Amino acid sequence: MKACILEAPHTYNIKDIPVPEPKDGEVLLRVLTASICVNDVRDYNGDNNFSYPHIGGHEYSAVVEKLGPNVNENLIHVGDHVINDTTDECGICDDCKFGNENICDEFTKGPAYFNSNGYSGFFGFSEYVVVKASHIYIYPKETPSDIAALTEPLACVINSIQRTPIKMGDDVVVLGSGAMGLLHVLCAKQQGARVIVSEVNPERAAFARQLGADVTINPMEADAVEQIKKLTHGRGANVVFNTTAIPAVAAQAIEMTAKTGSCNMFSSIHPNDPILVNAGRIHSNEIYVTGTQNGTRETYRRALNCICKSIIDVRPLISRVYKPEDIVEALEYAASPESYKVLIEFSK
Ligand SMILES: [Zn+2]
Ligand SMILES: [Zn+2]
Repeated sequence: MKACILEAPHTYNIKDIPVPEPKDGEVLLRVLTASICVNDVRDYNGDNNFSYPHIGGHEYSAVVEKLGPNVNENLIHVGDHVINDTTDECGICDDCKFGNENICDEFTKGPAYFNSNGYSGFFGFSEYVVVKASHIYIYPKETPSDIAALTEPLACVINSIQRTPIKMGDDVVVLGSGAMGLLHVLCAKQQGARVIVSEVNPERAAFARQLGADVTINPMEADAVEQIKKLTHGRGANVVFNTTAIPAVAAQAIEMTAKTGSCNMFSSIHPNDPILVNAGRIHSNEIYVTGTQNGTRETYRRALNCICKSIIDVRPLISRVYKPEDIVEALEYAASPESYKVLIEFSK
């Protein structure tokens, strides 16, 4: 099978490698379309920790090609169109037992990250991938594979949206309008909020308004906290989502949250420098500060439902589609400010 193999930072090779065999409780999938995540770009740049050689791609749609032994044939059939929850939780630790499998620590120590006798990674950037049957979600064949490939990012955003109570008429601030920021805009609009986006790039701000943002502010023109206070009669925003990786912006996110409001650190922070927080204000204003990582079992299903039922239209986020051979060009375009989601089509 054809696979895009990251051999070292900035070194991709397209190779022909054996198709993996599904073992007990596993299924073999043929990848239809993979989507590039900001994490794939960080992998390419050598900014993440994993073993080489590596086959990335954790956002993808696929077709069931073969069932391994002991897979429930009543529920999964060859030819089913599926997406896969790539979080390989251990099922044993307390996080897993309490239903927080999306933050299981064992996952990032496992073979997806460190594989001494083979390829690390999620294999969305290869023609075939073997996954656990319990991790797949079947979707209707009429749903196009390109939008289905965006289930994972939407599942992460729905996890973020569901963690913060948005009420009708609330002011919601989304910091940053990359693909993840825009998915927050689309979801928050569905909750009946006025959505304010903070974005430095004027073209990206215009696109956020096109997708439904009510107001955009430019944090380079004036202090972002002051601008949000001005727009909300001094109260701040009821809900703030930080989709940027910048520590100073994380601090501002908390500062612009209104009394009894919620602030979610959606993005990972790079570099993860500690920030100064006004703990007294969090106390006296009863502000809720939280974080979310990955999608959960539930939010994957909800994301797929939203895409298949056309509740959330993710299509405008697709900037370009590339062939697997052009993965380097695709990653470079994905890293540029002109793009949102960049896809790699493996098969139809
Ligand atoms: Zn992702
Ligand atoms: Zn676990």
